[in-house]
Amino acid sequence: MKAITVSRTGGPEVLELTEVEAPQPTADQVLVSVTMAGVNYIDTYYREGIYHSRLPLIPGFEGTGRVLHDPQGLIAEGTKVAWCDAMGSYAQQVCVPRDRLVAVPEGVSPEIAASMLMQGMTAHFLTHGVYELKEGDSCLITAGAGGVGLLATQMAAAQGARVYSVVSTDEKAELAFDAGATEVFRYSDNLAEQVRRHNGGHGVDVVYDGVGQATFMESLEAVRPRGTVCLFGAASGPVEPFDPQLLNSHGSIFLTRPSLGAWTSEEGEFAKRAQAVTQAIVEGTLRVRVTGTYELVDAPSAHRDLQSRATSGSIVLSIPQD
Ligand code: NDP
Repeated sequence: MKAITVSRTGGPEVLELTEVEAPQPTADQVLVSVTMAGVNYIDTYYREGIYHSRLPLIPGFEGTGRVLHDPQGLIAEGTKVAWCDAMGSYAQQVCVPRDRLVAVPEGVSPEIAASMLMQGMTAHFLTHGVYELKEGDSCLITAGAGGVGLLATQMAAAQGARVYSVVSTDEKAELAFDAGATEVFRYSDNLAEQVRRHNGGHGVDVVYDGVGQATFMESLEAVRPRGTVCLFGAASGPVEPFDPQLLNSHGSIFLTRPSLGAWTSEEGEFAKRAQAVTQAIVEGTLRVRVTGTYELVDAPSAHRDLQSRATSGSIVLSIPQD
């Protein structure tokens, strides 16, 4: 089968289209034929070697396609599915843990099905789990027009929170407003000062920071005393080690570095979050914006665009069927 493989870590150029053996499912897995794969920032961490995996690796954790073979005979061949948490999804076939599969609801396009789970469930655990927003709360979201950012903004706004979003361009600002942001700032603004100016003189209840290194110190400044800073990613690079005393001097603030893995680890939790996301999409209360579809062979361009901040919303790879 055709797959993108990484045989040495590095820049986007290490993503190579190759012929490899098709994978064999274990009893706990289902073999699927991939139609489209979602492209996520985490894929770039594995490609670069920031997150470790044995090489060669096939990147990609999510996608959509049709069931080819269920060793337990429970899911019919041809069933339309989407999944998250199955490494090796940048390929014509992948083995998916059976508890990480969902049926694709009628009317959901392959582009949306391929990219809704990782970013949608992340937005869900941030806004409904790590710090559950309620009416009247306020939050700051960095990379507010990114894949996770646009979905978290919509969820936070639907929960009645004021959403302050941070983006890099006018076009991204439009998208953030369209998703429900109350105010949109630029990274060069003094974020803490801007937040307080618009938020009745107070810091926000929670900062959802997926940018990391470039914004982390500002995130500590922008939160209210005893508020929560949720550092959930490192698009600009990992945060340097720091003195925990900083949490005290910023007003006894809470800091967490959560993962989707931990926030879907309880019995039935993956299904519950996946269901919340897919149902909101079907009902039209959550809009997934897929702004780029790349051929599998163009995976390097997809990663280049993602890492050079040229994308907004979600992007996907189209997998050749022969
Ligand atoms: P995005 O679509 O949000 O793309 C990243 C965005 O980050 C860019 O578009 C850019 O937006 C912003 N950015 C700011 N500074 C930089 C920089 N120096 N270099 C590159 N980008 C920068 O990606 P995703 O939605 O896939 O992921 C968003 C974050 O969420 C990532 O950090 C990812 O690791 C994290 N994540 C964490 C999970 C978890 O379990 N903890 C699960 C899923 C995602 P702008 O131009 O507006 O600055």
